[in-house]
Amino acid sequence: MTKVLISGAGVAGPALAYFLSDHCEVTVVERAPEPRGGGYNVDFRGAAFDVLAELGIEERVRALDTKMRGTTLVDETGAMVAELPAEVFSGELEVPKADLTRLLHDITKDRAHYVFDESITAIDGRHVEFERRDKAEYDVVIGADGVWSTVRRLAFDEQGLTHLGLSGVGFSLANHLGLDHKGMLWQHGGAAIYLYSSGDPRRMTVSMSFATESPELDRCPRDEQEQAVRAAFAGHSWEIPGLLDAMSAAEDYYFGSTCQIRLDRWSRGRVALLGDAGYCAAPTSGMGTSQALTAARSLARHLIATDDHEAAFRAYEAELRPYVTENQEKGRQAAQSLTATPA
Ligand SMILES: Cc1cc2nc3c(=O)[nH]c(=O)nc-3n(C[C@H](O)[C@H](O)[C@H](O)COP(=O)(O)OP(=O)(O)OC[C@H]3O[C@@H](n4cnc5c(N)ncnc54)[C@H](O)[C@@H]3O)c2cc1C
Repeated sequence: MTKVLISGAGVAGPALAYFLSDHCEVTVVERAPEPRGGGYNVDFRGAAFDVLAELGIEERVRALDTKMRGTTLVDETGAMVAELPAEVFSGELEVPKADLTRLLHDITKDRAHYVFDESITAIDGRHVEFERRDKAEYDVVIGADGVWSTVRRLAFDEQGLTHLGLSGVGFSLANHLGLDHKGMLWQHGGAAIYLYSSGDPRRMTVSMSFATESPELDRCPRDEQEQAVRAAFAGHSWEIPGLLDAMSAAEDYYFGSTCQIRLDRWSRGRVALLGDAGYCAAPTSGMGTSQALTAARSLARHLIATDDHEAAFRAYEAELRPYVTENQEKGRQAAQSLTATPA
């Protein structure tokens, strides 16, 4: 039986494990001690619904619906400009990422061998080394370990990281605006704020984005990141002073730049990349989760169809490239529209 090692138990990794598990011996290593959450929602569009059905979880995923009712676009002073339908930010269906990850683990935990708190450290042909467990041999290694993929770093010469000119901070605070399954979008001169409340009605989640030249801030200490956020939103009133104070007090503070992964090839020898690790389309695309699921099904089908893993990897890439290119263009355009400075 073909031995497959998957790095990453987010969305793409467990989905691939599910589809391969009747045909291959599958091991999944995950760096986190348990299925990882993230504190944000993800949405589904298009072909992803077929994949959810094939995974046998469409109804369970639909039951997790955040039931968002749309977003109010406000001007600089907070006055309503327009109502945007729920699909714009929440797709055809939106669920908490943590619940989705847990569910995917739940349906695969008896089909694949999961190893948490573990990471690959070296790949040499069939031979793979780990941080903690003994080295072992696999026929195929799949990097489904997200945008900062270790497998990509170990097996690929180029990393393909493309910054989309946007960075942002995320955190939650008391829902003093009384948002009820609603979002609010504020945009001004290359800066944007998206506020929403969909789970605990006492809390709302905030994302404050602004134009940046590079993802360097990601690696800076929190106080430097906060200074950059304060500079980007300086001089604005509305809710902004209070949001900046809440940012500094937040325990669930998260800072990240909007990046894509663009590589000429998604595989090298016995190694292939899957999901964000190989071709992240950026959160602004709204397609990352759908893409991860669709890609997992495609890669599984091609691996099952032949014993020649390199041919399977080529067929998977040929099938998926046009879809990924389209999603990346959506991500790029949406990032550009958020950072655009009005004339
Ligand atoms: C703030 C934010 C908002 C988003 N909003 C949306 C949205 O609205 N809609 C949408 O579709 N998508 C959204 N996304 C993107 C979406 O989460 C991803 O596209 C999707 O999760 C990709 O799945 P994946 O399995 O490829 O990667 P991930 O879900 O990132 O999973 C990767 C897994 O690999 C693990 N890992 C990392 N390094 C290692 C290692 N060395 N060894 C082992 N395991 C490792 C990680 O812990 C993680 O569990 C958003 C992302 C962010 C950050």
